[in-house]
Amino acid sequence: MSGADMAKPLLGHRSIEGDPSTPPAAGRTIGVLGSGDFARSLAIRLVCSGFKVVVGSRNPKRKASLFPSAAEVTFQADAVKKTDVIFVAVFREHYSTLCDLADVLVGKILVDVSNNTEINHHKESNAEHLASLFPACTVVKGFNVVSAWTLQSGARDGNKQVLICSDNQEAKHTVAEIAQAMGFTPVDMGCMSSAREIENIPLRLLPAWKIPIFLALGLFLCFFTYNLIRQVIHPYIREQKNKLYKIPIEVVNTTLPCVSYVMLSLVYLPGVLAACLQLYYGTKYRRFPDWLDQWLQHRKQIGLLSFFCAALHAVYSLCLPMRRSHRYQLIETAVKQAVEKKMNIWVEEEVWRMEIYISVGIIALGLLSLLAITSLPSIANSLNWREFSFIQSTLGFIALVISTLHTLTYGWSRAFDENQYKFYLPPTYTLTLLVPCTVILAKIVFNLPCIQQRLLRIRRGWEKGRYVKFVLPSATGEYSSGETSSNV
Ligand code: NAP
Repeated sequence: MSGADMAKPLLGHRSIEGDPSTPPAAGRTIGVLGSGDFARSLAIRLVCSGFKVVVGSRNPKRKASLFPSAAEVTFQADAVKKTDVIFVAVFREHYSTLCDLADVLVGKILVDVSNNTEINHHKESNAEHLASLFPACTVVKGFNVVSAWTLQSGARDGNKQVLICSDNQEAKHTVAEIAQAMGFTPVDMGCMSSAREIENIPLRLLPAWKIPIFLALGLFLCFFTYNLIRQVIHPYIREQKNKLYKIPIEVVNTTLPCVSYVMLSLVYLPGVLAACLQLYYGTKYRRFPDWLDQWLQHRKQIGLLSFFCAALHAVYSLCLPMRRSHRYQLIETAVKQAVEKKMNIWVEEEVWRMEIYISVGIIALGLLSLLAITSLPSIANSLNWREFSFIQSTLGFIALVISTLHTLTYGWSRAFDENQYKFYLPPTYTLTLLVPCTVILAKIVFNLPCIQQRLLRIRRGWEKGRYVKFVLPSATGEYSSGETSSNV
């Protein structure tokens, strides 16, 4: 690509040069081959965006009533003759049936919108296959990531990005302009070799969430089993008491905050490990191990899952007094106290513990909600880098500290009560404190001036043991240059 080409933006806004109210692409005639769901939604959207639409069908008479009256529905060959840009809204397996149109398609732009049913279904992408069937045409891959529903619902809803690739810059530019005129955001994905990747995108199920979800499920399973042993199995074995009723709410509700709290600390732990590695190597120009890279990239999803578990914990906790078992226990306690003629049941320490415990829990949940909301792309895009990093990094760390206070006030002095060690197993909250406290301690250490300074220098490009040029004023006031090691 020439320098001039690179300077020219592929997805330019030429409309600004002309009439600002009319997109340049609008007004031109666009062809659509096929009359199915996608073709119909595409035609509706194109008509609404100011294009003339000509639909090519094998049976135009029967299908015409399905399209808006502004769209012309005709035979495939007739439609192709009337336009230079044709959307092929036909499944890959039917491409060969279009070969009769090869002569009238010469020199035209074909937009391949097709998807597969499986990831990497065919050796060759659908777009490359179409290009091989019609070598005299220019094929552009695009629009497959938007559904027929998104096309119909307009720019209000659904995915707004249209990923486009082609070996022909001009054709790609034309299709990008059409997408823009339709209210989509065209994204240049490069050459035709990217078509395979673009075709795989709609088939992927939450790729960025797999690891965080498995992590959350793994933690949930571990803590759930641990709590089950302590809250249900232990009373059964030791006192033959049936506490199975605790499983649906109590055991789940003691498990959720553990998962949420540990997950929140796992958002900040990779940053601590990365800082340790940078300090150890004395440079930021050394790749982190793959697992750490992956972990750093998944922090947002881990944080959102932490918030999800915290929100569930809040709802479960609010519902605790609604349970029948809770009411029976309250009445039982009241009767016991009446029999023992205990009038004053107020325990000042317990009252304070609960007040503080609930209050810090609410604050922690509020901060987590803020972190979750600001991680949404639409909100994140409205923040500058400093605001985003203040909320996600500083407020996130404060949320971790407050969650720690919530956990500590929940535990209070129970860690020192030997009755709490069921089967010699420590209370669950003491286990959950391990990782978060390590992260908090590490963060405090990194904020010590000597370490913070070194870390800052490394992050600005300074490297241990690397020689740098220096310029010093001599005794006479003249400047002399030389080399020294920057870490001396
Ligand atoms: P569809 O409803 O089954 O429509 C396919 C159309 O292909 C038919 O209406 C038919 O129109 C035409 N066609 C041409 N030659 C054919 C042949 N030999 N046999 C059968 N049909 C033939 O499918 P669709 O949902 O619109 O999908 C069309 C393309 O868009 C597919 O490649 C799909 O992967 C892609 N896509 C669809 C969506 C979506 O949400 N539906 C989203 C993204 C991409 P005529 O009978 O009028 O010729």
